[in-house]
Amino acid sequence: MAKTLRLILGDQLNIQHSWFDEVDPEHIYVMMEMKQETSYVRHHVQKVIGFFLAMRNFAETLQNHGHQIIYWKLDHPENTQNLTANLHQLIEKHNIFKFEYLLPDEYRLDQQLLDLCISLPIPSKKFDSEHFLTTREFLAGFFKGKKTFLMETFYREMRKKYNILMEGKEPITGKWNYDHDNRNKFRDPLMLKEPKVFAKNVSQIRDLLQKMEVETIGTVDEKNFEWPVSREEGIQVLDHFCEMLLDNFGEYQDAMYTGDPFLFHSRLSFSLNTKMLSPLEVVRKVEQYWLAHQDRINISQVEGFIRQIIGWREYMRGVYWAKMPEYATLNFFGHERKLPKFYWTGKTNMSCLKHSIGQSLSRSYAHHIQRLMVTGNFALLAGIAPDEVDAWYLGIYIDAIQWVEITNTRGMSQFADGGIVGTKPYVSSANYIDKMSDYCKGCYYDKSLKSGEKACPFNSLYWHFYHRNENKLAKNPRIGMAYKTWEKMKDKSKILEQAEWYLANLEDL
Ligand code: FAD
Ligand code: SF4
Repeated sequence: MAKTLRLILGDQLNIQHSWFDEVDPEHIYVMMEMKQETSYVRHHVQKVIGFFLAMRNFAETLQNHGHQIIYWKLDHPENTQNLTANLHQLIEKHNIFKFEYLLPDEYRLDQQLLDLCISLPIPSKKFDSEHFLTTREFLAGFFKGKKTFLMETFYREMRKKYNILMEGKEPITGKWNYDHDNRNKFRDPLMLKEPKVFAKNVSQIRDLLQKMEVETIGTVDEKNFEWPVSREEGIQVLDHFCEMLLDNFGEYQDAMYTGDPFLFHSRLSFSLNTKMLSPLEVVRKVEQYWLAHQDRINISQVEGFIRQIIGWREYMRGVYWAKMPEYATLNFFGHERKLPKFYWTGKTNMSCLKHSIGQSLSRSYAHHIQRLMVTGNFALLAGIAPDEVDAWYLGIYIDAIQWVEITNTRGMSQFADGGIVGTKPYVSSANYIDKMSDYCKGCYYDKSLKSGEKACPFNSLYWHFYHRNENKLAKNPRIGMAYKTWEKMKDKSKILEQAEWYLANLEDL
């Protein structure tokens, strides 16, 4: 019988896709674990294990539903470890007359599949992944002719289009955005909740990675793998979020605390980015939960969460497809330094970086403000090359896939796009970090000093950054105040000297 081969990539685990509505004996689905995907960057060991486990579970679900599926593990004897070569092989072997795939979310894979289809002697067809709220092209059209793509404008459009937290044409509580209520420091450990984690034994996959010489970073507790790797587990994490964490999410969204890496964050990014959960089902469930529990959950907790998903997440994907492949080459400040080694070990005297990097290595997770205002902030102040910064973020986090990693890293965090995503660089001195965390308390450095042996490196590097980039930033209306303060400062040369010393000795900080 003539057969169609349908490819499912590791981040396309969307069981609600229309492809799977009916079982068709003419369709053969294929999923493959490949070194091509484990080696385009060095990934965290939990990330590789998480993806492979989730893929295996998905294949089993498809099989249980009656679909035909070919699943190649990493050590399958016919696995060439390359997507194109594997597909050529399968098409020949199974006498395939048509090839079909779901639109990938990464430019790299998009190009590879376009090239493959050109080289195939059979017809091919691509389908939407049916995951996002907008098409790849929507954002570019929405902001046509604009230099800056304002996220808030896009977010409001999504709220209206999908009728989320709306009453007619107006926001349900009369206000669109509660960002200003989301800036509290966390102080009370009694408020902490146990995270919803799983405890899977993953030693077999760990052994497979070692046998196949897959190079990874970070550590994993082989007997207690924590991440959700099926749709059912993703739903459990979502329910846990609604019941236990949502009532404090917004208020402590920007807080950092040494005693808990997760605080009130949802830990849903992996389930979302692998498409085990859909963004719309997540926000609808959160909205419904809030509507039923308004007596104890404030709108500001909920709006902040929904904004991240239908706002930032969706918006970043739009920017990615509007601006790739050029986006991956942008370097507005011309930064060229190498990332210090402590990003790979966590061994530094800077308490904020030690904690944020340490938990990234042990949990493959850091929340948004740790990524933006600690590791990202330091990399930007220290003038690290965006390629280096991208490779680190793309490897270390369980949720890192280029479309959402690069736009956040190169765009929001490093301002390497010169202001497409953000209106100004996210940089700060120790002031902000101390305001939002308990990191400075136990630090070797002194948060209040700008110069001297124990001066916090963030303080002098902050002013050095503004000073060295004056011609690029002074005219930015959102930054003017910083230059006015700098002008009035008395000990400028001492601060700059201190920063120069730190820049020359980054490895020793
Ligand atoms: P929560 O705080 O509970 O937020 C809920 C959801 O909102 C997240 O699961 C995520 O899907 C979405 N979200 C929140 N902020 C953003 C954002 N800025 N962009 C897109 N989606 C967002 N997110 C990734 O999914 N993959 C990445 O590779 C990634 N790299 C980042 C790199 C940098 C430098 C920065 C500053 C942020 C990055 N983010 C990335 C965004 C954000 O940090 C993570 O989505 C979040 O920390 C995931 O944890 P959570 O699920 O507990 O999030
Ligand atoms: Fe980080 Fe400086 Fe605070 Fe230390 S003093 S934790 S280096 S901000």
